[in-house]
Amino acid sequence: MSRHAVAVAIAEALTAPEFAAIVDLVAYPVENADGQRAVTVHGQHGVVRLHPDERHEVIAGSDPVANTDPLAFLPYDQECADPSPENRRNAYPEPARRLLSFFADADRSPDVVIVHTPSHYFPDTGGHRGEHGSLDVIQSRAPFLLSGAGVAKRGPIEGYARMVDVTPTLLSLAGVPVPDGLDGAAWVVDGTPGRYVVGLLWDGAHCSDLLELAASGELPNVAALLSDGLALTGGAVAEFPSVTLANHTSALTGVGPGRHGILGNVFYDRARGEQINANDESTWHRSAEWLRPEVATVFEMLGARSICVNEAVDRGATWSTMQVIRSLDGGVSNLLPPAEHSAYLGNPEHLADRYFRWATQVDDAGLEQVLGEWADPSGLPDLTWWASVITDAGHHAGGPRSPIARDSLRDADRRLGGFLARLDSLGLREEVTFLLTADHGFETADESVTGSWAPALADVCGQLGVTYRDEGPGFVYLNAR
Ligand SMILES: [Zn+2]
Repeated sequence: MSRHAVAVAIAEALTAPEFAAIVDLVAYPVENADGQRAVTVHGQHGVVRLHPDERHEVIAGSDPVANTDPLAFLPYDQECADPSPENRRNAYPEPARRLLSFFADADRSPDVVIVHTPSHYFPDTGGHRGEHGSLDVIQSRAPFLLSGAGVAKRGPIEGYARMVDVTPTLLSLAGVPVPDGLDGAAWVVDGTPGRYVVGLLWDGAHCSDLLELAASGELPNVAALLSDGLALTGGAVAEFPSVTLANHTSALTGVGPGRHGILGNVFYDRARGEQINANDESTWHRSAEWLRPEVATVFEMLGARSICVNEAVDRGATWSTMQVIRSLDGGVSNLLPPAEHSAYLGNPEHLADRYFRWATQVDDAGLEQVLGEWADPSGLPDLTWWASVITDAGHHAGGPRSPIARDSLRDADRRLGGFLARLDSLGLREEVTFLLTADHGFETADESVTGSWAPALADVCGQLGVTYRDEGPGFVYLNAR
């Protein structure tokens, strides 16, 4: 039986009505008559073939990704009125481009991908109250804010960028030519950028809630950046899957997962015959081992002094947190500052959440590293990349708009304030251009919507006599043990 026939059987089984609450889409790559790659997407109500030119060819029923508007659910009250929408009310930006990239790696792309509904709650297999990873617009919407030297003071404006635009934008701000062949393009500023470029990635920070809280005065330091720049209300569209390491890598290389090779946080490599778990506190300093060697990072393209703080994708940085961790052979947990003493923690009750506690420690250490590198005016970095993780912890714990998610944004804002104060004391605030983004968005799962596709997947593959692995879950590799 052909791989294609198995994929079709899996897709048909998992889009049966009994899985409507938990399975949003099932997709797999196909070859067109002209030899070009396309992607077939099954939903509850129909099947579509997505072509490289973004043409949607409906195969049966109605197009499951018909709405591709990157600005869907804006203004923000529309999202709040219809959170975690079901398929026919949902939107899926650039589905062909993103899925084609996802399926482009011969060794690491799965044969079939199963996409959760936004409501699906799956704590037994790694799910949380707040979740991301899917193709839909809200889980894919990261903030995109530019501020400071050279940036027009326009505040929030309608528009969107893409995760792969981050690297070309940083290079352009740093005055470095953007190499040909990247998947993204530079967001060009109107004036002359500053002497220094600072990129901030607040992991999982919800785009619209960030802008909402900044506007209401609850994130004074983000508000200060916004008053001195602009933010796209549609943010930056994450690559698929909208998970952490796939998108950190896209942000810092300017290419999609099918080219940089980091297909997700957990994926299978057929050539190595092993599972790769790239986004774990015990492995995140090893990301360069999995990054495709022919792909360059922004630090390598920059060719100037750079620092890379609390970021896995650090290859080529002049100084990085991961270099320190590698030099210590990974053993740093006992070097982190105690969370209880954090000067940036708004609500100590959140330390009961293990991930929030660790993130508080990591982010406090991150700020210390940034301040350490921004101490001596004679040796300042041309490019600073500083990732914060508390926002991911807060949004996983409670989902967007929850008290713990909003407190995580406030904590991150206070740490940003610590850095801005340092710039002010050095008299350099006017010399800096900032880019603030994230790696994905978030939606809230419904704790009553549980269940698993695992037994049905096992049944289909068993009947067809094929072995498989389901990584993620949702990445199905056929004929792999
Ligand atoms: Zn993340």
